[in-house]
Amino acid sequence: MRTKLVIDNVALSDHNEELGLYQFIVTFTDRSKARVFMRRDPEWKVSSVNRLLNIPCTICRKDYYCKCFEKHAPDIENQLVEGEHIQGALASKAQ
Ligand SMILES: [Zn+2]
Repeated sequence: MRTKLVIDNVALSDHNEELGLYQFIVTFTDRSKARVFMRRDPEWKVSSVNRLLNIPCTICRKDYYCKCFEKHAPDIENQLVEGEHIQGALASKAQ
């Protein structure tokens, strides 16, 4: 069973700077995607992770909604915060 999700790419989807709320579309190296809701308060925190249904879940293989990615929210948050993903997504939006 696969448990390790590795972030490949992050794109800003929606944001409200006043409230510090951000939505990112995160693509993983296994091609799965998730919509990630984050707060900047001022530390970045993941508030929820919703897997997109572009491919079956790479963890449990379900083709429908499951909680796998939500369970990995702390890991996803670590990768987002420690990598340059968020800065990169915000910078490409500003261009
Ligand atoms: Zn799953």
